[in-house]
Amino acid sequence: MWRNVRILILLLVLAAVALQQWLERVHTQSWRQTLWVGVYPLNADGSSAARSYIATLTHADFEPIEAFFAREARRYDLKLEEPVHIELYPEGSELPPALSRDAGPLGVAWWSLKLRWYAAHAATAPGHPPSTIRLFVLYHDPARLQSAPDSHGMQKGLVGVVHAFAAREMTGRNDIVIAHELLHTVGATDKYSFATEQPLYPIGYGDPAQQPLYPQATAEIMAGRRALSDKEAEMPRSLGSVVIGAATALEIRWTRP
Ligand SMILES: [Zn+2]
Repeated sequence: MWRNVRILILLLVLAAVALQQWLERVHTQSWRQTLWVGVYPLNADGSSAARSYIATLTHADFEPIEAFFAREARRYDLKLEEPVHIELYPEGSELPPALSRDAGPLGVAWWSLKLRWYAAHAATAPGHPPSTIRLFVLYHDPARLQSAPDSHGMQKGLVGVVHAFAAREMTGRNDIVIAHELLHTVGATDKYSFATEQPLYPIGYGDPAQQPLYPQATAEIMAGRRALSDKEAEMPRSLGSVVIGAATALEIRWTRP
């Protein structure tokens, strides 16, 4: 008897989680109202460079992300003027759980649970409405770090962890990484080779029909780089030379098959 009750409760919990994830997915892919995205800045390395950079952050630093989504949405005839609103929250004090590079599938699943738990209590701030998607942006002193650790955006839980550089001249590139992880949370997949980091042809090219093909004038956001040849690629300086390609537009339901 008790065994059956316990199994029933477990099944109900699992059903509730599945239902919530389905509702979140429908909501974030309906594009009928502006998607509210919270950016939560954090000092990744406790450096003074990150501290002073975070202190200078304003909403204007993230406006290119809003403009990027608005511009690309127009290209796909979306009937929504502002698909994405970025809300800048005050600097947080606690860092999200770290994912080790050699974590197996079970380690990743455990990390994602801990991250959702972290997001549930770290994402509230007095005077700010709650956001649908929460992006924790960890700023690093560029002098201490050659390349930033991998960033992650997850559709389950609508949470992202973004590693960014605490430097004015990197603000445009940080916005590219933020937009990329944001798109993961609404269902977009990567469009570059994990082995070479080269954009995948044709889905990872800004314009796969461009003549001549190289160098590509733009980068596809889920590839993150524009192909200069079939073996070289570079990250643009800002979202001004980045587009949402047809495959990504389909994944986030801006278009229908
Ligand atoms: Zn990615």
